[in-house]
Amino acid sequence: MSRETGGPVPVKTAPLARPRRGLGQNFLVDRNISAKIVAALAVSPADTVIEIGPGRGALCPFVLAAAPRRYLCLELDRDLVRSLAKDPSGLIPVNIDALRFDWERAAGALILGNLPYNVASPLIWDICAGGRFSRAVFMVQREVAGRIAAPAGGKVYGALSAFVQAHATAECLFTVGPNVFRPRPKVDSAVIRLTPRPDRPRAAEGRLLSRLLAVCFQQRRKQLQKILRPYWNDGLSAALASLGLNERSRPEEVGPEGFRLLLKNISIADFPLTFA
Ligand code: SAM
Repeated sequence: MSRETGGPVPVKTAPLARPRRGLGQNFLVDRNISAKIVAALAVSPADTVIEIGPGRGALCPFVLAAAPRRYLCLELDRDLVRSLAKDPSGLIPVNIDALRFDWERAAGALILGNLPYNVASPLIWDICAGGRFSRAVFMVQREVAGRIAAPAGGKVYGALSAFVQAHATAECLFTVGPNVFRPRPKVDSAVIRLTPRPDRPRAAEGRLLSRLLAVCFQQRRKQLQKILRPYWNDGLSAALASLGLNERSRPEEVGPEGFRLLLKNISIADFPLTFA
């Protein structure tokens, strides 16, 4: 089928070289799942789409069928990039480590990826910190999806949950079993959608929030007053009280907005030096 008929546009896939485990190469082989993932991104012709790890092109025909204005595919495996580059369909393959991409340049873009398991969390963190995308859909390990969307108050909630949720609304859309991949992974996967919050932190606040979350969740069993002792002041006590918490509360009880409020009450002058 073609763009004119609105169906998936065929993409020449790579010859079946042995998948590289170190690059998290579990290729999707079920077209229905591919279609469902891309549908969740809701691509329209005015959009720029950035796909992370296109691999053998399982998602590409469905993106191309929506005829986006620009379609960049960031792939670390040079052989797969070469193979995608032969395709005349209009996608732009880029041989790059997505962890080194400047996500602040992704202004207004839709971001998509069946992410390699080993880099999914840092990548999603970087993309949120970049803060400029307009929607993102990712397939990740089911546990990672659970952590991203976890509400404050439980054991699963952590730095990744608080950071992502400060920047975006996270929805877990559906889970995917191992049988739809080759080779089959040992774990279940899940598809999540991130929609940036209008009031998300700007870059400078995001950097400080990263540091605060790292410090708090490295010591998640400790009470907040003990963790933040060098910075403690009445403002922090008042901020916690306004959240229904107190000095003895632990990091996992503080929601994403709560951490932003705590940050407002910590001396910015001291904070980055000590937590660097
Ligand atoms: N999208 C394809 C699919 O659904 O079948 C492939 C998904 S596979 C789970 C992950 C892909 O990401 C692989 O093609 C792998 O080579 C690529 N990859 C791994 N690490 C990467 C990185 N740091 N930057 C960009 N691509 C990466």
